[in-house]
Amino acid sequence: MPAKVDMDKIVSLCKRRGLVFPSSEIYGGLASCWDYGPMGVELKRNVRDAWWKAIVHERDDVVGLDTSIMMHPGVWAASGHIDSFTDPLVECKSCHLRWRADAIEGKGCPKCGGELTEPRMFNLMFKTSMGPVEEEASTIYLRPETAQGIFVNFDNVITTSRKKLPLGIAQIGKSFRNEITTGNFIFRTREFEHMELEYFVKPGTDEKWLDYWVKERFDWYVKLGIRKENLRLRQHGKDELAHYARDCYDIDYLFPMGWSELEGIANRGDFDLIQHAKHSGKELGYYDAEADEKYVPYVIEPSAGVDRSVLAFLIDAYDEEEIEGEKRTLLHLHRDLAPIKVAVLPLSRNEKLTPLAKEVFNKLCPNFVTDYDDSQSIGRRYRRQDEIGTPFCVTIDFESLEDKQVTIRERDSLAQIRVPIEELDKILEAKLKGEAFDASPLWATREK
Ligand code: ATP
Repeated sequence: MPAKVDMDKIVSLCKRRGLVFPSSEIYGGLASCWDYGPMGVELKRNVRDAWWKAIVHERDDVVGLDTSIMMHPGVWAASGHIDSFTDPLVECKSCHLRWRADAIEGKGCPKCGGELTEPRMFNLMFKTSMGPVEEEASTIYLRPETAQGIFVNFDNVITTSRKKLPLGIAQIGKSFRNEITTGNFIFRTREFEHMELEYFVKPGTDEKWLDYWVKERFDWYVKLGIRKENLRLRQHGKDELAHYARDCYDIDYLFPMGWSELEGIANRGDFDLIQHAKHSGKELGYYDAEADEKYVPYVIEPSAGVDRSVLAFLIDAYDEEEIEGEKRTLLHLHRDLAPIKVAVLPLSRNEKLTPLAKEVFNKLCPNFVTDYDDSQSIGRRYRRQDEIGTPFCVTIDFESLEDKQVTIRERDSLAQIRVPIEELDKILEAKLKGEAFDASPLWATREK
């Protein structure tokens, strides 16, 4: 069982293995901004792809969308973000640090104990100006959620997709929030990526669909390897609901700093479509031809963060174990999420082995994200692959030159099987789809 891990270990593994770096590091970094390195970019992309596959590709009642980050300022007036997207801010009168009033305990400054100012409401949207002449430019905002791009395109999608309700519209993209306090690595940042689904349903069926999506989303994390005992559902109290929400559940994860929100699933009712219809003057509704009735749909919104999911997957996958007196650090990442699927490792950098090893690499890389590594000892190379969660290593040794067979080593069990190079693609494909490592009797008989 993977060990409980503190955040420092995750941050250090991420730096060491090229997953996540501090942003602008050579300039001393920029608070709460992070860059994804060569391994991180693959992991993040796999998280997005797994979401898109489950939400859009594997269903016929959801379509995708990609809307712009900058939108007409009227959007944010209608959505309530200009008036209500605020957090209560307090400032310490001694050390001048600023805090989110609802996120601190006690009356004094958490840093120095100093007296705090009265809370004032602080808007979390980033403002910028659009247009070449600053004085004449109009004030616009960087979107704090991708959802509004979906609502303002509701009519475009309904009239062009020829789909009936219930219908979902999904979007993945950057959001920006000028959070008062950030931290815990990539858990809370000012620039992050959202994965949001707006699922439009007939009023009256909304509660049923809310339950449905809460379960779907919970199961998605479990299917991708997060242990159930590290997840919990929490319904929002009435006083906690956002200005648009009729009901809301959080999926919380047991992060090293304690239970915290991983995803929110809200029943937004008809708030957004009604608001946009009012502010834009365009009718936003749905005509149900079969029942010959017209209504404004309600919306169920599962809203997740890519970066926060990446963090939860990393934490849950992290493990340390002792093998023959040596410590092994590994990530038990689900095969769909692992940045590298297969590593091709010639036993040593030897002129006889290299051509065959390259041949194997060239054969695999069009089908799987494959790494080729012939530096350092084979033990160190295995350790590197374990630390980034590579499910399979393929080793080419001197015998391979004779019998045209290679060894596949599985990350978690360390079991090895020897297989013909000719069959390698097919075997790896089956294993990467979830076939048990020793499932095939043909290969099991040739083990080691
Ligand atoms: P919180 O209460 O933690 O500020 P929220 O309830 O405002 O979050 P939502 O608006 O529901 O968050 O956003 C949905 C999801 O987007 C969150 O569950 C989280 O995964 C992600 N998210 C929101 N804000 C941030 C942020 N500042 N940094 C990283 N991810 C974020």
